[in-house]
Amino acid sequence: MSSPKPKRTTFSFRTPAALLQWIDSDYTPDGPEKMRDEPDRVDWIRCLPFLILHLGCLAAFWVGVSPVAVWTAVALYFVRMFAVTGIYHRYFSHKTYSTSRVGQFLLALWGGTTVQRGALWWAYHHRHHHQHSDEPEDAHSPHVHGFWWSHIGWITSRRNFPTDYSTIKDLAKFPELVWLNRFDTVVPVVFAFAVFGFGALLEAHAPGLGTNGWQMLVWGFFISTTFLFHGTACINSMAHLMGRRRFDTGDDSRNSFILALICLGEGWHNNHHRYQSATRNGFYWWEIDLTYYGLKALSWTRLIWGLKPVPKSIMEEAARADHLASIAAAQHAALAHGEYSSLKKVVPAAAAIAVATAAASQMLIPKKAEGPAMHKDLSAQTEHGSKAKPNPPTRIF
Ligand SMILES: [Zn+2]
Ligand SMILES: [Zn+2]
Repeated sequence: MSSPKPKRTTFSFRTPAALLQWIDSDYTPDGPEKMRDEPDRVDWIRCLPFLILHLGCLAAFWVGVSPVAVWTAVALYFVRMFAVTGIYHRYFSHKTYSTSRVGQFLLALWGGTTVQRGALWWAYHHRHHHQHSDEPEDAHSPHVHGFWWSHIGWITSRRNFPTDYSTIKDLAKFPELVWLNRFDTVVPVVFAFAVFGFGALLEAHAPGLGTNGWQMLVWGFFISTTFLFHGTACINSMAHLMGRRRFDTGDDSRNSFILALICLGEGWHNNHHRYQSATRNGFYWWEIDLTYYGLKALSWTRLIWGLKPVPKSIMEEAARADHLASIAAAQHAALAHGEYSSLKKVVPAAAAIAVATAAASQMLIPKKAEGPAMHKDLSAQTEHGSKAKPNPPTRIF
């Protein structure tokens, strides 16, 4: 006669499992499906390295500071933000350009230095986000789960740790990518040692710079990586709260110049939600998109090629955009969910910007006869968009 498993046994079994998952991300004793079906709950043991990353910043009080350490931290922030946006997002998640198999592996290594887990885990979650944006299934919607959960909480939840390889078969067919995804601490650890070594090298050969291995590790790895995480996380949280809406995308994605600067072009998030297959997120010259410029430059080296443009039909749709209708549609969707947290409850500044956006749009943009239908996979709808009723010419800003 079988008896139900005592809770204590389950708990004591989970701790070593969480420890093993630090090394082998695919280690799931009960199977990844069961883990994904669990309710949201923080796995403190599993995310201990993430906490250590933040606490490591405090070591700056012991190791001190030097200009070279700070500038290295800043440089590594932008070099690796480019890896998050240009590689993990615009290549692995959306395949907005092409590369060779070797090129793809090199890009995955570069992406690994961001300490944002493997490219496949990242792409799986991001594609899922686009399929279910601001719906209850969306793991990091600020409207459904609240600001802090969308910003940082969701990655500490056990159910979000495993990668669902069945949904990213185009990537999972490459064993070298699966290996990097499974052992996703390897690249960050090697990178941390390299940063330490760089500091030690400077101490030995350029003592006048006033740095050393430990100081460089704290600034170049711990502080830079922590800022990098929060900069990236702003897209999950703030980019669905703060800024203007050009397209009625059926979610609450927004375009924000500030976020575009912090995240090298990812702030044009409403554009991106409307058309995900374009290499550029900034659709106009004034929508600064440093990731796109970087990818364009990279294409001259022939490491990558085939950058995908924004289709003419999408640009025509942008020219007819009605910001006010788009914001109203997002608010309507918010009410439909019932669980949405209001902007002013979460980020008062975001509410002020949204109101200002609505007011500015009302002044500048004439109303459109009818908005595009709401749908999730909007990239495939360009033809539909091009057949929409023509409207009088309008100013975008
Ligand atoms: Zn989004
Ligand atoms: Zn995306």
